[in-house]
Amino acid sequence: MVDLQQQYQKIKPEMDAAIQAVIDSAAFVKGAQVEQFARHLEAYTGAKHVIPAANGTEALQIALMALGLKPGDEVITPTFTFIATAEVVALLGLTPVVVDVEWETMNMSVEAVRKAITPKTKAIVPVHLFGQCADMQPLLQLAKEHNLYVVEDTAQAIGARYTFSDGRTAQAGTMGDIGCTSFFPSKNLGCYGDGGALFTNDDELADTIRTIANHGMRVRYHHDLIGVNSRLDTIQAAVLDTKLPHLDEYIAARQAAAAYYDKAFSGCEKILTPGRAANSTHVFHQYTLRIVGADRDAVRERLTKAGVPAMIYYPIPLHLQKAYQDPRYKAGDFPVAERLATCVLSLPMHTELDEEQLAFITKAVADATL
Ligand SMILES: *Cc1c(COP(=O)(O)O)cnc(C)c1O
Repeated sequence: MVDLQQQYQKIKPEMDAAIQAVIDSAAFVKGAQVEQFARHLEAYTGAKHVIPAANGTEALQIALMALGLKPGDEVITPTFTFIATAEVVALLGLTPVVVDVEWETMNMSVEAVRKAITPKTKAIVPVHLFGQCADMQPLLQLAKEHNLYVVEDTAQAIGARYTFSDGRTAQAGTMGDIGCTSFFPSKNLGCYGDGGALFTNDDELADTIRTIANHGMRVRYHHDLIGVNSRLDTIQAAVLDTKLPHLDEYIAARQAAAAYYDKAFSGCEKILTPGRAANSTHVFHQYTLRIVGADRDAVRERLTKAGVPAMIYYPIPLHLQKAYQDPRYKAGDFPVAERLATCVLSLPMHTELDEEQLAFITKAVADATL
């Protein structure tokens, strides 16, 4: 599914030097590279503040803590996504309210969000799924009308760009009150372990986030807030700072692979290629097909036999997960998400796919769906 080895080989001298420099300094925590990387990522994304964290899930948790949400407050999030978003909502004693997604983009439906708003709703957490932005303009408008916070989960979409109707563009993660991302190794900007970050344009929120991520402490051993310990370690920051200048090349390589896939499957009736959002670029964290009129699981098995890995992101929507059973929801409530769970199939997607591999994969997929 991913090839991190070859990507490393291409930048080995600079990467090895960057890691060695951290070891030589022995500043494994809070070394200079951490703040340096944060400044570079601010310049890249256009976010006023980038605050590193230990991983993407903790970034989401810190974001919700920083907004001062209270038990019982409702947070709206899509039901078709990775578990992290709903998980931190539940962990903080907040109430996750899930909504359906769109068939084409697989992103949160703004109309569904509108219908899910109640007097208890405090925040919306859109997930920019698979690498393209949820429809932020109407979502931000809706949030403004109802006085709600917006926390973007941009773990899969760093570098994606959204265009507003006035022509203004903004990067994923920089449009809401807070953006949260992950540097898990397979993400578009991945480190060599765990890592994450929060983005915000609000000075006060930035200070609160920094404080919470550091045990609620502004002055050493004075704890103003209940916090957590969430740090990006220096080696990971050095890895990320080395990779960041290559991010646009990495995105372009993913987009080229996606274009190859799109073209190869354009004549296949049973294969629907990823729908594109009208107002967002797509950075293809995943290239996710919808298999229609054929048994997805049988297709996947045939692919495995042919030596082509394929993954199901995600097989069970949140409202049908055992740990998230809720009397408000039952099977059938979110038909698009439930259908997607039965038909999505993600193909290998990374920066090192060459034409030979792509030809092999696309032929195997076409054969497997005959
Ligand atoms: C990867 C991911 C996360 C969590 O990131 P971690 O760094 O693994 O904690 C959260 N949300 C989405 C959509 C993700 O893809």
